Amino acid sequence: MKKVVAKSILATAFFFIILNMLQPADCVANDGVINKKVLIIDSFNQDLPISKIFLKGVQDELAQQANLKINYYYEYLDQENLKYLPKYLKEKYSNQKPDLIIVHRSVAFEFMLNHAEFVFPGIPVICAGDTREKYNNEVLPPNFMQVLGSVDIAESFRVLLKTRPITKKIYVVIGASDLERGMMSKLREDLAQFSGQVEIIYLDNLTVPEMLDKVSTITGDAAIMYFFAFKDVAETSYLPRELMNMIYARAKVPIYTTAGSYLGSGIVGGYLFNGELLGKKVADLSLGILQGEKSFPSGVEIFPAAEYVFDWRELKRWDIDPNYLPYGSKVKFSEPSLWDLYQGYVIGTIVVLVLQAMLICGLLTNRRKRKKAEAILAKMNVNLEAMVMERTQELETANKELRTAKERQEDLISVLSQLNKHLDFTSRTDALTGLFNRRHMTEKVEAEFERFHRTGRTFAVVIGDVDHFKQVNDTYGHNSGDFLLRIVADELRNAVRAYDTVSRWGGEEFLCLLPEADINTALKVAERMRSMIVNKNFVWEGLSIPISMTFGVTIANTGDTMERVINRADQALYKGKESGRNKVVLADGV
Ligand code: GH3
Ligand code: MG
Ligand code: MG
Repeated sequence: MKKVVAKSILATAFFFIILNMLQPADCVANDGVINKKVLIIDSFNQDLPISKIFLKGVQDELAQQANLKINYYYEYLDQENLKYLPKYLKEKYSNQKPDLIIVHRSVAFEFMLNHAEFVFPGIPVICAGDTREKYNNEVLPPNFMQVLGSVDIAESFRVLLKTRPITKKIYVVIGASDLERGMMSKLREDLAQFSGQVEIIYLDNLTVPEMLDKVSTITGDAAIMYFFAFKDVAETSYLPRELMNMIYARAKVPIYTTAGSYLGSGIVGGYLFNGELLGKKVADLSLGILQGEKSFPSGVEIFPAAEYVFDWRELKRWDIDPNYLPYGSKVKFSEPSLWDLYQGYVIGTIVVLVLQAMLICGLLTNRRKRKKAEAILAKMNVNLEAMVMERTQELETANKELRTAKERQEDLISVLSQLNKHLDFTSRTDALTGLFNRRHMTEKVEAEFERFHRTGRTFAVVIGDVDHFKQVNDTYGHNSGDFLLRIVADELRNAVRAYDTVSRWGGEEFLCLLPEADINTALKVAERMRSMIVNKNFVWEGLSIPISMTFGVTIANTGDTMERVINRADQALYKGKESGRNKVVLADGV
């Protein structure tokens, strides 16, 4: 036997080396992704939870490798057709050789030990199972590796007793297949330590209906520890999960197991083997091969693939205190609390309320600020209005004052103008008679001279003097002289033409300017004046005073000056005096 095994090892090693040499280089795509083929050979149908969980572990772990694209192929061992399977597989995979074969649990492992050399020569094989499926390390082929999740049955019992301390009896349910029978001695050995603590009853040598009948009678401080049963004592096959459901339907006591794959189907929980952890471990060990490393991890590796997991619903059903659960236990299927159900709404509502409160606070602050600002504004408005009124009043007062000042100024101007006019009039007028005075008459004669020089139209000058006026004063008094002079002035004014001018030339002497008058006109005007005076009845204090005047007449000639013209008139007047008075005398040389 040993010879055969040694031969097979040598042959396998040889094939393995040759195959490695012949293998094409890894199929690496342009984007750096390596395509690999992984064949899963499972002891069970892939629909079973035990397989599903393991595969999930493998695939989830390998999916994290971005540079690996793995095509999975699945085969499971239909125990009835095992005979034809090697040939079938060899043909099926002759053109699509897998890069790695992952074998799940002991049935497939046994199959591969017997047929791998024929079906998949040299292809690396990683076998996964639990420690109860340990194979002799010394005879494992070189391209085989075994990964075994440790199963601690004793710990599962300890957890049962710890979480349910009232337990007095434990009913162990296990099938009667070869596998299950093979486990029994180890099981009894492991559980011997509990003999003084709890009564252990094995329901192994029964048909399933018998076992179920028994289960339905178990009551009180008892519990069931369910392993699995692929076959009962009558060789009837069962699916372990279906059997679990049947037990659960009848059991009146809590059910514990050692396999995580039963979780959710009615077990309380315990220290459970977790196929997913095993799958992840296998995936980790596969990586080197799939990434193209030549060295292959061989031998047997054992690692703890169990964890403390419980079903919250069963804990509640059996009134198990969560404080009794081992440290680090996971509790699944817990009913969501009100908080879990409504935390979204609660948080949302709180957030909305907080936001609303913030909004209200903001609005209130704003309103307070606005009111404050409005109050300040109103106060400022009042101040402003008062200031405006004050300024308006000031302006009105100033305006009034200005108006008054202006009116006063206008009044003053008017008075001044009147005064000026009066002054002008006074400066040109003789106060006693109201006639133009000598100064004004001089200006008028000069103006007439200019006109004469400009137009050549001559003018006449007549000088009249009251005869013997001194005697009048002397006889009737100075007042009477003034009175008579005023009447003389009026008479002379009436005697001349509208455009002629009469002035008081001095004392009782009068000078008349007759524009555009020739000698005849001048003589006529002078004569009319003389006549009017001498014929006028001058009465003073009831006394009639005879008055006459003598006149000298001349006209302006070319080359004359004002002095010469007046002198000529004066000399004519003098002549008239000398020759008897009350006369009109024409000057010489005109
Ligand atoms: P004659 O005929 O030569 O002119 O003689 P007369 O007395 O008029 O002339 P005379 O020159 O000697 O005297 C003029 C007088 O006129 C002297 C003066 O008292 C008088 N007289 C002059 N001006 C005024 C005046 O304004 N009022 C009065 N009452 N007398 C005046
Ligand atoms: Mg005189
Ligand atoms: Mg006189």
